[in-house]
This record gives sequence, structure tokens and C-alpha cells, in this order.
Amino acid sequence: MRDDCTFCQMIAGNEAYVSVYEDDRALAIMDMYPINPGHMLVLPKEHVADFYTLEPDLYSHVMDLSRELAGVLDYIYEPEKMGLLIAGFDIEHCHVHLVPMHNFHDITSKKILEGQRGNPSRLDLQDRASEIRDVVDSG
Ligand SMILES: [Zn+2]
Repeated sequence: MRDDCTFCQMIAGNEAYVSVYEDDRALAIMDMYPINPGHMLVLPKEHVADFYTLEPDLYSHVMDLSRELAGVLDYIYEPEKMGLLIAGFDIEHCHVHLVPMHNFHDITSKKILEGQRGNPSRLDLQDRASEIRDVVDSG
């Protein structure tokens, strides 16, 4: 746990977030500034800066969870493609972006550079998280 890390502070309960899924090793949350509706982040609870330094078991767990949730997002949002991106320029705690893509540019920097990322209400994010959880829970 790092005091200067936004995700560590969320996991410690000191910062608000909208949870989709949580277990003892990983967390899936709604992105607060989604590229498209359904944009989600999957992250290990342990503070690790880069995905390639994750322990293999934890890496597999995070990626298996990402694959499962990508399928749920595909079912709900019916995008052209499901985008997966790990970068970490914003927060240095490794996290997987899952982005329902309706356009080639949805996972490039175009939307960020042109200020087109969303800024939905917390209620809207909670509704989307609830919808995703319902599909996860139904197996
Ligand atoms: Zn952290």
C-alpha cells in the first residue's frame, strides 16, 4: 500500500470508486472518465507499478478476470471490438483498461487530445456497474 497512489488509497477505503467486482487479489472498477460507456479498469490489489513485474499467478488472475469481464462488456455494449490497454501514464499502479470500441480511434489518443472522454455522474457509473455485475452473477 502506497500513500501516494490513488488506487492503493481506493483499496484502503480512503478514496471513492465504483466497484464492479472484487476478490482477495483484484478489483474491477468503472473508469471515472470513460472513453466509451462501460470503460472499466482491472487491477491487482497489491501495489505493482508495471504488469511485467507482477508475480505470474497474480498476472494470470488479473488477465483471466479481464478476459471474463471483456466478454460481459461485449454482451452488454455490443462494440465492434473490445480494446485492452495497459499503459499507466496516469496512475503508477498497474491496471488494465477494458474499452468497448465502436471506432478505430476509441483506443488511440484522439478522444483524450480532443477532450472527448466522458464525465458521467456517479449514479450513471453505479448503474453501469450494477448492469455488468448482474451479467457476471448470472454466469
Ligand atoms: Zn498502488
